[in-house]
Amino acid sequence: MFHHVKELQFNARVSGPDPRFATLLLEQFGGGNGELKAAMQYFIQAYGARQPYPDKYDLLMDIATEEFSHLEIVGATITMLLDGVNGELKDAVEQSDLTKLLSGPGAKEDYIHKAMTAPQFMALTGGGPHLTNSQGVPWTGAYINANGDLTVDLRSDIAAESRAKIVYEYLLQFTDDPYVQDTLRFLMTREIAHFQMFAAALDTIRPNFPPGVLQGDPRFTHAYYNMSSSANARGPWNEGRGPWLEGESW
Ligand code: MN
Ligand code: MN
Repeated sequence: MFHHVKELQFNARVSGPDPRFATLLLEQFGGGNGELKAAMQYFIQAYGARQPYPDKYDLLMDIATEEFSHLEIVGATITMLLDGVNGELKDAVEQSDLTKLLSGPGAKEDYIHKAMTAPQFMALTGGGPHLTNSQGVPWTGAYINANGDLTVDLRSDIAAESRAKIVYEYLLQFTDDPYVQDTLRFLMTREIAHFQMFAAALDTIRPNFPPGVLQGDPRFTHAYYNMSSSANARGPWNEGRGPWLEGESW
C-alpha cells in the first residue's frame, strides 16, 4: 500500500523559468537512467527476492518507493521551470490572441526559441513533464533489468545507481540556478547512498560470485585471450589471480 504524503522528500524550488534545462532534466524523469526506471527496476526485482531474502525484499521496496519520491521531485522541478512558459501559454489562450504574446522587441524570437528548444512542453503537454527522455523518446519497460538472481540484480542496481549519479553530475553543469543545484545535489547524493546500500546487501550474500549455481570450467575461468597484435598490456586482469575467494564481492 502506498500513502500520498503531501510534502516532497526535498524542498525543491527554482529561481525562475528555464524551459531548456527542463528539457534536459526530462532525462531523469523518463530516461533510461532516470527515477522511474530505478523505481520500477527495484519494484520488480523485489518480488523475485522475497524468497529466500525477505530482508532484501524490504530493502528493494523501500528504495523503489524512495525513487518514486525522486520522480515526484524531478516532475515538480520540471513543472516549476516551465511555470513562466505555462503562464504565457495560458495568457495567450485567455486572450485568444497570440499576437499579444508576440508583441514587444525580441518577444517573438524568444518565444520561437523556447518552442524550438523545448518543443514537447510548448506543443504537447502545455507545461508539464512528459514521460520521455530529453530527446522525446518514450519511456519503456525495456530499461528494466531484473534477472531473478539477487546477486545479479544487485549488481545491476549498483550499475544503475552509478549511472544515475553521473547523469545528475552532468546535469549540474547546465544550470546556474542555486535552488535547482541544491535539488540535483540532494538527488545525486541519494544515488550514492543507494549504491552503498546495494553493495552492502550484496556483501551479505556469500558466496556471491560467480552468480547462480553452476561454476565455471576451471580450464577457462582465468584464461586471457590476447587478441592484440602488439603492445601487450599487463595487469591483474591477465596476470592470473588464482581461484576466486569464497564470498568475494567483485
Ligand atoms: Mn533516485
Ligand atoms: Mn537511487
